Amino acid sequence: MNIILLGPPGAGKGTQAHYLVESRDMIQLSTGDMLRAAKDSGSEMGRIVADVMARGDLVTDEIVIGLIREQLQGTRKGGFIFDGFPRTLAQADALADLLEETDETLEAVIELRVDDEALVQRITARSTCGGCGEVYNDITKPWPADGKCAKCGSTDVKRRADDNEDALRNRLMEYYKKTSPLIGYYYAHGQLTSVDGLAEIDAVQAEIAEALDK
Ligand code: AMP
Repeated sequence: MNIILLGPPGAGKGTQAHYLVESRDMIQLSTGDMLRAAKDSGSEMGRIVADVMARGDLVTDEIVIGLIREQLQGTRKGGFIFDGFPRTLAQADALADLLEETDETLEAVIELRVDDEALVQRITARSTCGGCGEVYNDITKPWPADGKCAKCGSTDVKRRADDNEDALRNRLMEYYKKTSPLIGYYYAHGQLTSVDGLAEIDAVQAEIAEALDK
C-alpha cells in the first residue's frame, strides 16, 4: 500500500508517518528529511538547496523527483508513505509516472487539515530527536525531564533552522499557492480522504487507519 500524507508544515505528517512505519511496517519517504541529510553531508546538492530551504521556498521539482525516483528502486516492505512529496502538480504527475513504471499503485491520499494559528504554535514549539526522528512539542509533548528521548534514549534534541516565524510564513504561502491545488487534483482522482489534523494524535491515527483499511 502506497499513500501520500498531504498538509501544510506542522500538520502532523511526520508524527503520523512514524506511527505508520511502526504499525504497518511502511517506509517513510520524506523529501524534507532527504534534503536536510544532503545539506548536512555537505554534498553539492546540499549546498544548492541550503539557502532555498532556509528561506522556506520550494526546491526545484527536478531535484525532489530525482530523490524519490532513487528511493522507489529500493525495498518497499509494507509500502511507501510519501511525506512532503508531492508539493506541486508537476511532482504529482511525476509520481504517477514513477509508480506506473515500477508497477506500483497509489492507494490513498490523506489530507491533514489544520488552521494557521495552530500551525504557528506547533512549529515554533517543535523539536525532533536526532536519534530516531520522534517529534516533540514544548507544550503538548515536552522532551522528557531526564533529557533522553522516550523512544530511543538519545539526548540529541534538534530544532529545525526553518522553524522560525519568517521562514514559516513563506512555507505556508508556498503551501497555499503550489501544494493546496493537489487537494482538488486527488479529490478529482477519487483518492482523497480528509482528516481533522487538530484532533488528538491517537484520534488522527484512528481516522487514518480507518481510511486505509477501507
Ligand atoms: P519539510 O521537512 O517537508 O517541511 O521540508 C522542508 C523544506 O524542504 C521545504 O520548506 C522545502 O524547502 C524543501 N522541500 C521538501 N520537500 C519538498 C518538495 N517535495 N518539493 C520542493 N521542496 C521541498
